[in-house]
Amino acid sequence: MKNTGRLAVLGSINADHIINLVQFPRPGETVIGKQYQVAFGGKGANQAVAAGRSGADVAFIACVGHDDTGESILKQLADDGIDVTPVAIVDGESTGVALIFVNGEGENSIGIYAGANAALSPERVKQHHQVIAGADALLIQLESPLDSVLTAARIARQNKTQVILNPAPATELSDELLALVDMITPNETEAQILTGVVVKNDDDAAKAAGILHAKGIDRVLITLGRRGVWLSERGCGQHIPGFDVAAVDTIGAGDTFNGALMTALLEQQTMTGSVRFAHAAAAIAVTRHGAQPSVPWREEIERFLQ
Ligand code: ATP
Repeated sequence: MKNTGRLAVLGSINADHIINLVQFPRPGETVIGKQYQVAFGGKGANQAVAAGRSGADVAFIACVGHDDTGESILKQLADDGIDVTPVAIVDGESTGVALIFVNGEGENSIGIYAGANAALSPERVKQHHQVIAGADALLIQLESPLDSVLTAARIARQNKTQVILNPAPATELSDELLALVDMITPNETEAQILTGVVVKNDDDAAKAAGILHAKGIDRVLITLGRRGVWLSERGCGQHIPGFDVAAVDTIGAGDTFNGALMTALLEQQTMTGSVRFAHAAAAIAVTRHGAQPSVPWREEIERFLQ
């Protein structure tokens, strides 16, 4: 570890259009919503915001379109204390969009148009070599082109920057990418896609973690929704429960967890202490609506943990 305490996040930026309705529309059906909100999202941006608000020093590598939405999002990210110098404004593409339905159970169904996020090419990533090489850790997800994610992970590995992969949305990944990862944070579905193991209990989680360790990943953290996480470090596993709260909307729970986890780890908190800090941040987030609007600030997390 370099102990610079600096986090580089590489990932997506979206404008989320969220409609709350009683049940999801079936094909051909129209359902009238109860509430509508436009909020800033995208896994990369959500995780950068969660890290920034919880106290980390964050630089964000991403792309927005040359439009009003992109401009507003950049201003908001800067207000959250994030270094947005490495965010490119791309001509001829719109800022990424997510159309999100939330049903009466708090479950969500999401369609995404990548827009400018697709312009985050390996060449653009290489332009930010110094941002990655100079950071202590690189946090990546899979809403950006896969070859760009791989390029970033290679730069990180060459420069002893820790690589943390949140493998969302779920997709199969090359062994080459997985071998560059120091810590992976899949949810149950993502763990299943990566390992073939259906994760229903701790034994399943331990088995899935074992498969990921065998691919060269030292730390595996499988998030289990309200049940918490399964943490496995070089084959030694434990279940760390989350906090019991009245959830209204789990959009961004995983992103808040990942961002806050990085803050605590970069402060050299213990692994279990860092998970507890991240659980608290995510528990606060699920009691609120939207992705970035629900991400808590440091003071709120500390108050929650008292
Ligand atoms: P999402 O895609 O909804 O953002 P995810 O599927 O990536 O989330 P989860 O495993 O659902 O991730 O949740 C991540 C973390 O968020 C959990 O480990 C826990 O800390 C917290 N969390 C999620 N749901 C709840 C809940 N209902 N109550 C309390 N904490 C929750």
